[in-house]
Amino acid sequence: MSNLVDCPYCEYENDVSDSHQDPSNNKFDFECGSCEKEFEVEVEYNPNYSASEIVWVKCQSCGTETREPYSKGRIHPFPKFIVHDCICEKCWKEAYVKELELKRVVQDES
Ligand SMILES: [Zn+2]
Ligand SMILES: [Zn+2]
Repeated sequence: MSNLVDCPYCEYENDVSDSHQDPSNNKFDFECGSCEKEFEVEVEYNPNYSASEIVWVKCQSCGTETREPYSKGRIHPFPKFIVHDCICEKCWKEAYVKELELKRVVQDES
């Protein structure tokens, strides 16, 4: 969010971020840092909401329904030996731990 406001008199860019201290009031007076005239600043709030459907996905490994599936291509690292594309968090964690163990074994052998 930009806190720079152009002075309406001389077009000097004023940083007003420290001047707005009363959240219940979205207007305040500000003195231009260049020409020293006062002008009124109105704060515009643009809240951003985004909505998305709740999608329940079935874990391909254990069958648990999850709202936050761990899917191949989206989650890194995705353990290589997982044959499924979409699993729940629990399965992913288990697989991840398992992969780390496998790597350790390989390193120990070499
Ligand atoms: Zn000015
Ligand atoms: Zn699962």
